[in-house]
Amino acid sequence: MIRFERVAVIGVGLIGGSFALALKRAKACAQVVGAGRSAANLQLALERGIVDAIAPDAATAADGADLVLVATPVAQFGKVLSSIAAKLPPSAIITDAGSTKRDVVAAARAGLGSRISQFVPAHPIAGAEHSGAAAASAELFRGKRVVLTPLAENPARSVQAIGDAWSACGARVSRMSPQEHDALFAAVSHLPHLLAYALVHEVASRGNAAQLFGYAAAGFRDFTRIASSHPEMWRDICAANREPLLAELDRYLDKLRALRPLLERGDGAALEQLFAESRAARERWLSGEYE
Ligand code: NAD
Repeated sequence: MIRFERVAVIGVGLIGGSFALALKRAKACAQVVGAGRSAANLQLALERGIVDAIAPDAATAADGADLVLVATPVAQFGKVLSSIAAKLPPSAIITDAGSTKRDVVAAARAGLGSRISQFVPAHPIAGAEHSGAAAASAELFRGKRVVLTPLAENPARSVQAIGDAWSACGARVSRMSPQEHDALFAAVSHLPHLLAYALVHEVASRGNAAQLFGYAAAGFRDFTRIASSHPEMWRDICAANREPLLAELDRYLDKLRALRPLLERGDGAALEQLFAESRAARERWLSGEYE
């Protein structure tokens, strides 16, 4: 059973806060120290028992920690990691929750220098369109996947410890390379967010937007739920993973271009076939066939 003495969470939002709550519930840590950008959010985290203490900055939180989780938006990683490098105990393990991995690994190499072996990159495949400590839940990761993208420099025991920490949170841990990770999540996470933001923006910019929103119902709500996600977080993800995301956008545009003539010529049979194949694929996914 894994147990940490002092866990530092840098960025006590939905993901960082949920990780702290889940570790506490599993009795996998003695103390959580939080650092962040918003005093009000940190105060709420303290009141909710997510953190036991607030540190004035990331370096102070990391000082004496045996586990550090960086859970800020990914563009903050360079600054955060270089600020904690000097205070980090040599035995501490650092991990993260960033939604992209090649940029995070590059930021870690630049920020941590010779300490890079202490950094085990990770991405929990669980989340929500809500943000901040207010949205944190000990249950967020239960039954969900966490992808580790270990580095060649990581000692096996550190990778195991991070896997064990996520398992203690109820997650199912797997591994892949940062490249594979970024290509995969461009397709099934980053592209859907871009599309949802684009559709809401397009509707909102029309002269009759009020009428359109007034009549929009479950289909619009389901398709666009993720357009309520944190804009800064998604700005950073799109910027960091723009090449794989552009490739996925082009594939999607190709699909729309192939669909258009079916619609134009009113080819009901071809549309129905495409819809039936999509529904069958989605049902196989929902049935857990790919778990
Ligand atoms: P969030 O907005 O709920 O929390 C982020 C926190 O980081 C905020 O409290 C913010 O004040 C703090 N912060 C920002 N800049 C900082 C800095 N320089 N130093 C210290 N604190 C700083 O966001 P979240 O949903 O918890 O996402 C956190 C990370 O997890 C992101 O990297 C995101 O890509 C990743 N992630 C998010 C989801 C999701 O669905 N929300 C899922 C998996 C991974």
